[in-house]
Amino acid sequence: MIDLKELTITKALEALEQGKVSSKELVEEVFNYIKKYDPQVKAFLHINEEQAIESAKQADELRKQGVKKKLLGIPLSIKDNICIKGLPTTCASKILENFIAPYDATVIERLKEAGAVFVGKTNLDEFAMGSSTENSAFFPTKNPWDLERVPGGSSGGSAAAVATRMGLGSLGSDTGGSIRQPACFCGVVGLKPTYGRVSRFGLVAFASSLDQIGPITLNVEDSALLLEVIAGHDPKDSTSCPEEVPKYSSIIKEKSKEKFTLGLPKEFFEGKMDSQVEKVLSEAIDLIKKEYEVKEVSLPHTEYAVATYYIIAPAEASSNLARYDGVKYGFRAEAGGLIDMYKKTRAKGFGKEVKRRIMLGTYALSAGYYDAFYLKASKVRTLILKDFLNALNEVDLILSPVSPTPAFKLGEKINDPLQMYLSDIFTIPINLAGVPAISIPAGLTDNGLPVGIQIIGKHFKDEDVLAFAYKLEKMLDLNLVPPILQG
Ligand code: GLN
Repeated sequence: MIDLKELTITKALEALEQGKVSSKELVEEVFNYIKKYDPQVKAFLHINEEQAIESAKQADELRKQGVKKKLLGIPLSIKDNICIKGLPTTCASKILENFIAPYDATVIERLKEAGAVFVGKTNLDEFAMGSSTENSAFFPTKNPWDLERVPGGSSGGSAAAVATRMGLGSLGSDTGGSIRQPACFCGVVGLKPTYGRVSRFGLVAFASSLDQIGPITLNVEDSALLLEVIAGHDPKDSTSCPEEVPKYSSIIKEKSKEKFTLGLPKEFFEGKMDSQVEKVLSEAIDLIKKEYEVKEVSLPHTEYAVATYYIIAPAEASSNLARYDGVKYGFRAEAGGLIDMYKKTRAKGFGKEVKRRIMLGTYALSAGYYDAFYLKASKVRTLILKDFLNALNEVDLILSPVSPTPAFKLGEKINDPLQMYLSDIFTIPINLAGVPAISIPAGLTDNGLPVGIQIIGKHFKDEDVLAFAYKLEKMLDLNLVPPILQG
């Protein structure tokens, strides 16, 4: 019998290759876990059992014929704002409740080509706006480390699913931290690639100049492997870059021997952190200092990052979400005429946070305010980018916290949007600068909650980020399994 707790994508591929397990058995075991644990964790919006078993059988057949593919027969979940043809894509919003995707996102095409099996679509904050998955229009997801706590967000369903082994990996999206923060809260690995590294075609747009798809996995090697499959230029996304895709999964092993110099941004460590987070991080950093040169760097405009993001992201969102008018997609409200229909559809179809973002964004873009808000924010964004370019001129990689606190309680911040926004202080600057960053587990608090460490790199040096993460993961040797799976 296979033990999912022991598996990663890489190990499962070995077991499949050696004939120790079939993909069908593997996928069936994933559905056993989903049936056992998802009623408590609630990571999934849609479960794709029949099709998944069918694809698993096909994968077994191909393997028998000697066909080699990078992810042949590997069960993955996908955040429900990424389109898989023929399956629902709701973005956890009432407005897309009955929407069935008519095409595959480019990342899905590439995963299919590599032989992956899709077990289901995972929960998120509505349209990826939030940090706790409580903004889902359907239900909140729970953290598998403590069911009274949030899994983080907005890719909370994906991170919780991976931590609970309901699938061996997942894809999330990250606009201001939505891959890294939930990975941190759930004790798994989350990578936001360089902006432009991965095609956004088929990802439902939130803030197009910040959005990036990336893997959520159980370890760094799996992250590298998924990135290798999904990355690369796509003519359907003009912001995807033509840079060649390295074989991340193999080169990180060689590269992990390099003596990278590491920077600690002093503005990130100036007393904004929970004491337990600080403790776990300083232990990890002490360990790193034994083998690496670590020095202080400065990112002087950090204090403006959250304010800048909350102009730029809502501005882009207000324009991206204008398309949901009851005509082209999903939900349409009963109404007296066209204008009335638009109004009622949007009033009923969008949740509170999405409406708040649309209003913030529309205001910031309106005539007379554009210069004062949007233009100013764009200029500050450039200053933040320059901070990173300068710091990354002095060091190869930057180390930082992912979130100022471990997973908070469900309900704790939901009525205080500002507190919720401020919790993204360490992840948002990275999206504004477009650089790659990963969150890997650094340890547990005294209460047994995971704490992550963030590794930030230069544009298109995703392999450096992964290589150092690979090494650090070995040095820390944590192998986290949430208590829900230990009973
Ligand atoms: N928490 C941030 C927000 O609410 C980031 C979300 C994301 O990365 N999608 O906008």
